[in-house]
Parts: sequence; C-alpha cells; structure tokens
Amino acid sequence: MKKKKLSLPIQILIALIAGIVVGLVCYFAKWEGFTEDYLKPFGDIFVNLLKFIVVPVVLFSMIDGILSMDDMKKVGSVGVKTVLYFLVTTAIACVIGLVFANIFKGAGLFPILDGSEQEYTASEFGGFMSTLVSIFPSNMWQSFSTANMLQVIVIALFFGGAILAAGEKARLCRDIVSSFYSVIEKLMMFVISLAPIGVFTYMSWVVATQGAEILGSLALVLLCAYVGYIVHAVVIYSFSAKVFGKISPLKFFRLASPAMIFAFTSTSSAATLPVSKECADEMGADKDVASFVLPLGSTINMDGTAIYQCVATVFLASCAGMDLTLGQMVMVVVTATLASIGTAGVSGAGMIMLAMVLEAIGVPVSYIGLIVAVDRLFDMGRTCLNVTGDIACSVCVTNWEAKKKAKAAK
Ligand code: ASP
Repeated sequence: MKKKKLSLPIQILIALIAGIVVGLVCYFAKWEGFTEDYLKPFGDIFVNLLKFIVVPVVLFSMIDGILSMDDMKKVGSVGVKTVLYFLVTTAIACVIGLVFANIFKGAGLFPILDGSEQEYTASEFGGFMSTLVSIFPSNMWQSFSTANMLQVIVIALFFGGAILAAGEKARLCRDIVSSFYSVIEKLMMFVISLAPIGVFTYMSWVVATQGAEILGSLALVLLCAYVGYIVHAVVIYSFSAKVFGKISPLKFFRLASPAMIFAFTSTSSAATLPVSKECADEMGADKDVASFVLPLGSTINMDGTAIYQCVATVFLASCAGMDLTLGQMVMVVVTATLASIGTAGVSGAGMIMLAMVLEAIGVPVSYIGLIVAVDRLFDMGRTCLNVTGDIACSVCVTNWEAKKKAKAAK
C-alpha cells in the first residue's frame, strides 16, 4: 500500500510542536548556542528564499490579477473595499489594545520599570507628505532591489492599467506576464513545501534563546498583548469570516493555520505572503481579488502591530509616570493606525514605528529600550494576526464582489 503523505498544515503543526520541545530541551541543557549556530541558519535560508521570491510574486500576481479583472473600474472597486476594511479593522484593533492595556494597568499588573537610563534612538520620520512622495518610485529597479513593497505595488498597478489600456497591442505583454506567473507559482510551491523546516528551526531557536525573557518581568505585558491579539482574532475575524465571507470561523482558522503558524515563526508578513496566497486559495477566495488584497495587506494592514503599539504605549507611558488622558488615547488610536500602515511587513518593523506613537503623546522614545529584548516575542503574535487579517479581508472582498456581480446580472 502506498504511504499517505502528511498534508502541509499538519507537517507545519508537527514542526511547531517539535520546535518547542527541542527548544525547551536546549534551553534547560544550556545549548542555546547550538540552536543559534546550527538551527537558526536553516530558518534564515528559508526566509531568504521567501524574500527572494516575494518581489516577483507581488509584481506578477498583482499584474495578473488586474489583467484578469479586465477593467480598471473593478480594480478600483476592489481597492476601495480593501482599504476600508483595513482601516476599520485596524482602528478596532487599536481600541481593543487600549482597553486591555488599561485593564492590565488599572489592575496594577504592569511592572513599573526605570526607562530613564535606556539608550534607544528612533529613526527620523519625514512626515506625511514625504511618506506620500516616497510611495512613488523614481527607479523601478531600485524598488525591486530594496524590496520596497509599496513601490512594487504602485509599479504593478501602473503596468497592469497600462497593459489593459493598450488593448490588443499588449497581447504579448499579457502572455509574458501570465507565463512568468505560472513559473513563479511553481517556484513558490517548492519554497512553501520547505516551510516545516523553517518553522522547526526558528521555533527551537526562539524557545531556547528567549525562554528566560518570557519568564522575566515583561511576562504580563506580553500576556496583555496576546490577550488583545486573541480577542481581536476571535471576535473580529470570526465575525467578518461568518458575516461577510460566508465561511464558518472554524473552517476559516483551520484553513488559515499554515500561514498563521508560519507568520508566527518567521515574524514577517511579506515573507509569509506566498503561504497566505495558498491559504486564501484553499478558502475559495477569488484569485484575482487575493492577488490584489494580500500583497497590499502584507504591506499596510497590521492589526497585530496596532494592538502591540497601543499596549506598549500605555505600558511605557506608565513607566514614565504618565497617565493617558482620553484625548491622548484618541491620539494613540490615530497615530497607531497610521504607524501600523507605515510599518513594513518585516521582522521588528512595528517596534521602530512605535517611536511615532510615543512621540505623539510625549513619552521619551528612549523608553523603547525597555522592551527591545523581547520584541521578537511580541512580533510573533502580531505578525500572526496581521496575516490572518489579510486573509480574512480577501475572503470578505471576494464575497462582496460576487454579490455586486450577482446584483448587476439581475
Ligand atoms: N513583523 C510584522 C509583520 O511583518 C511587522 C511588525 O513588526 O509589527 O507583519
């Protein structure tokens, strides 16, 4: 009898559990160095492979998606729904983050640490207008080589639109895009099949090297962020999957689990993109819609990051001896929504953007130094939530578009 191969989600789950077990063994046996020197590099190789395909995946899948929609109006309609969904869910995420942070703080669960000695220098923000200008590329090769995702998305939109506008004359271009995309898809499937290795090696490394930090003084702040992440996932994504996406929440989370686990271990929405695409496909999300929503989401939709930024802000403000007023909280919601949009889908980016929220309410940015050591632990959960939000959006927009089409056909 032929042996049945385990499905990828099951393989990933086994890798996760095995990673935790091996990580714990190495932690207690004091073999952290082994995980750092010999296991983590395999995770790095896997993430490198994902990063190497992410630019062509975004570029070709988006252009291909636009061409299949065959109409810039449809692209616009998908775009508006997507951005609205992203904005609303991110603002809700901020409120959830603030509510739990205040409950934890009110109950005296947050430690008060001295941040005055910390050294952390924030990077400079150029402000809204210069951010806007930086979205538009002046040299497309540079956008590709630096993997500037927003610029790659803009390039895809322009090329997709121009190929549509050129009509019959662009036949060759259309064929080239779709042929290239088929090749990239094959490559993507191969890299994704290596995901269990990435999950196992990263997980054992994190558990072995950061085990002590989890037990340290920041455990309750971490717990607060994770409660926020879980509540947001269970309430908001279950609701949108059920009500807008017409898919049962259990099925939604089961099918999204490979991407969620992968995001959790890799801490990069951009690197998880190929896996999220597979999950959205499995869920029945329209391929064209998913090709549009997921790359955009992995760049601008960061609900987990928003929750983290709110929790961290309340915690660091309390370390600085500040109680936030209602006005300041509103400010936190607005700036954390913007900061999470501006956060790149790579490891640790959310902490860098946290500086913007802290600055807005006058908490010294150097206080970030208090949480730098455990950022990866925050990042695992927030990236997992970020990616789940993108997949949820692709299912919802698919359904909204299908409804619109059915109405128009009547
Ligand atoms: N690592 C997160 C992501 O890729 C971004 C962050 O650091 O908040 O989605």
